[in-house]
Amino acid sequence: MKLLDGKLASQAIKDDLKTKVEELKKLGNKIPHLAAVLVGNNGASETYVASKVKSCEEIGFKSTLIRLEDTISEAALLEVIHKLNYDNDVDGILVQLPLPKHISEEKVIDLIDAAKDVDGFHPVNIGKMVQGSETFVSATPYGILLLLQHYKIETKGKHAVVIGRSNIVGRPISILLSRNDDPGNCTVTLCHSHTKNLKEICLQADIIIAALGKPEFLKADMVKQDAVIIDVGITRITDASKKSGYAIKGDVDFENVSPKCSYITPVPGGVGPMTIAALLMNTYKANSLNHDL
Ligand code: NAD
Repeated sequence: MKLLDGKLASQAIKDDLKTKVEELKKLGNKIPHLAAVLVGNNGASETYVASKVKSCEEIGFKSTLIRLEDTISEAALLEVIHKLNYDNDVDGILVQLPLPKHISEEKVIDLIDAAKDVDGFHPVNIGKMVQGSETFVSATPYGILLLLQHYKIETKGKHAVVIGRSNIVGRPISILLSRNDDPGNCTVTLCHSHTKNLKEICLQADIIIAALGKPEFLKADMVKQDAVIIDVGITRITDASKKSGYAIKGDVDFENVSPKCSYITPVPGGVGPMTIAALLMNTYKANSLNHDL
């Protein structure tokens, strides 16, 4: 079993981007600028946004964190997005989800300028991704592709089973892995909460992407010998022995599944850091495209 180390792979991407930013600075060109919008004070969202902003700083990107009260009206949030769309210095706009219940996530995402949608959630970018056109692929699926690429995992002709069909992970990664591309060219089975015989389907998989948000759901008896396992799940479990008061669990029973695999991602330290690396890649690309660099 070999670990697919997201910390290591994401560091390689960050080092490369850092060099590119230094080159932009030397040439007097504009450096990438990410604007992150955080509504309310959800603990997990705070952590995610903080690490995205910190990663920007590490590699020399400009970042702006816009913190808003969870009582903000939908109209006021849309006005914030509108201003960011028209701010020429801002290359990428990220609105941390989930949003408070009184705000329509769909309306907010739809308003983000597709050319600044570095999270790749805008319908235009999703449409382009489905067509296989150049676009911003959403950060978590893109991060998974980058991880597979980094470790030179062969995907062509493999059977990939994706568990979970959310718009941000399961559905897009199932489409990306089925494309005529590298990584890609998989035969993909997309499973969800109504899938029957999930265990039998998983046992046929060469690659399993677990993205359902149920801690340690994927057990050793559901995994074929030498399968590649990508664990997307992040669930906070109360743990008094930890300083933070919680432990992070993935969707895979790592202890028992890992001895059977050829490759597996750890949680934390697998898909999470790759998601941030992918967001940075998208922000760099937005800067290049929007400013003809
Ligand atoms: P979601 O809650 O939107 O969707 C979960 C999906 O799992 C649904 O499509 C549902 O049909 C499926 N599902 C639920 N129970 C199932 C079962 N018993 N069998 C088969 N399918 C089942 O989830 P999401 O937003 O895609 O997130 C999934 C997990 O990934 C969460 O733990 C989330 O925190 C994590 N996540 C991690 C990252 C990262 O960067 N690592 C990014 C996004 C999400």
